[in-house]
Amino acid sequence: MNASKAGGGIRPDGSWRNWAGNQRSYPVRVERPTTEAEVADLVRRAVADDLRVRVVGAGHSFTAVARTDDVLVSLDELTGLVAVDDATGRATVRAGMRLCDLNPELDARGLAMPNLGDIAYQSVAGAISTSTHGTGLGFRSIAAGVVGLRLVVGDGTVVVLDDDHDPDLRDVARVGLGALGVVTEVTLQCVPAFNLHAIDEIMAVDDVVVAFDSWAEETDHAEFFWMPHTGMAQVKRNTRTIEAPRPARNIGHAARRRWKRFKNKELLENVAFGALNHMGRLRPSAIPRLNNLVFDEVGRAEYLTTSYEVFASERRVRFLEMEYAVPREHGLEAFSRVRSLIDTLDRPISFPIEFRILGGDDVPLSTAEGRDTCFIAVHVFRGTPFEQYFRGVEAIMDDYAGRPHWGKLHFQTAATLACRYPQWGRFQEARDRLDPTRRFTNDHLTTVLGP
Ligand SMILES: Cc1cc2nc3c(=O)[nH]c(=O)nc-3n(C[C@H](O)[C@H](O)[C@H](O)COP(=O)(O)OP(=O)(O)OC[C@H]3O[C@@H](n4cnc5c(N)ncnc54)[C@H](O)[C@@H]3O)c2cc1C
Repeated sequence: MNASKAGGGIRPDGSWRNWAGNQRSYPVRVERPTTEAEVADLVRRAVADDLRVRVVGAGHSFTAVARTDDVLVSLDELTGLVAVDDATGRATVRAGMRLCDLNPELDARGLAMPNLGDIAYQSVAGAISTSTHGTGLGFRSIAAGVVGLRLVVGDGTVVVLDDDHDPDLRDVARVGLGALGVVTEVTLQCVPAFNLHAIDEIMAVDDVVVAFDSWAEETDHAEFFWMPHTGMAQVKRNTRTIEAPRPARNIGHAARRRWKRFKNKELLENVAFGALNHMGRLRPSAIPRLNNLVFDEVGRAEYLTTSYEVFASERRVRFLEMEYAVPREHGLEAFSRVRSLIDTLDRPISFPIEFRILGGDDVPLSTAEGRDTCFIAVHVFRGTPFEQYFRGVEAIMDDYAGRPHWGKLHFQTAATLACRYPQWGRFQEARDRLDPTRRFTNDHLTTVLGP
């Protein structure tokens, strides 16, 4: 996967746009530091000019969490591996490094990220800052694997946070929404490199709902995508292994195996899916028929390859997304209410609903803090109305103290969120300590974290 294909970013005229194209900003200054010292310097200059500072990673958040019309900082020049400790499996990376660049570098050293989300375009700091996650009950969010951070804070000084230096603050700063300072380096606890044996199949969604809990217990990484207006879901089950990829019986067999996986991805994620979505945007009444058409064509695929190539893939169709984290025990009930909601909407839905599961962690603003969690993600094709749908889903999630993904669309405020995070106060104390003058805020953060 190539980071340059990710889209969005800083434009030649100095403006910025996110991947989905729904957030734009016109910063007075764009900074591209190449060293931590340059980061500290730009923060001090912002203090002198009384400007606010926001860092942008790969721009893959759908919310306005990264936007600013003051000083926008890109860390695209602050990338690369700093060190790998073979004895502990810990890798220190510069904050702007993209996960898709990190994964092969770790692999070459016999290491891997324990778990990943659906894509790997994100920067390391951007991914942890919004509590990015994959699926797997025995695994945690990416931020939960952070063991060290270096941050440039509100007065331009550098703070080191690790096992020996303020580990309490380190624990809080793992999910910081960019509100605690500029992360310049991240140390990640990695695991020995592994492969995944993947099985993707289409099943009746009613059967999936019945079986999912036991799959979550038995399979390392289980998830499903239900296609609205059909009775079908694509189930993905990935099992960790150190077994090597099996050689194909012959060239034809290898080609067929690759084709099946490619075809599923094209139909559900990329070119063909995009074409059907364009048709559906022009004629919404055709969407249920098109959805059935897609799922009739998607078939079973089974493959075994390097972990990160299974976890993450390319997403070339632009969309808008909302994702909610609810306590594990309510996940399937919340999902079935979303199914019912879709029947009541003015407009049919052309994107699958994604259902994942994750172990709880102890990061104060992690969406899985303190509880095993199910994630329910809803999407619309870019350019189609989403408010009725997303507000309807949010009303359901409110009944389960749902926590919205910090990088995905939602309508919550600090007043509605504070009670959903038992360690909210601990985060606010860290914010007051590291950024008392709110150098690193914007209107969005004022809404979701408070002034
Ligand atoms: C196609 C697609 C698929 C996705 N799949 C998943 C998924 O499977 N699972 C999941 O959980 N999420 C997923 N996401 C959401 C995505 O992982 C998050 O929004 C993530 O934060 C994006 O990382 P980024 O580098 O683009 O950060 P940005 O969106 O650029 O920034 C996110 C936040 O991080 C802050 N930040 C970035 N760098 C720094 C830094 N150095 N110091 C301090 N703050 C910083 C920014 O200020 C901002 O607040 C997906 C998004 C898209 C578009």
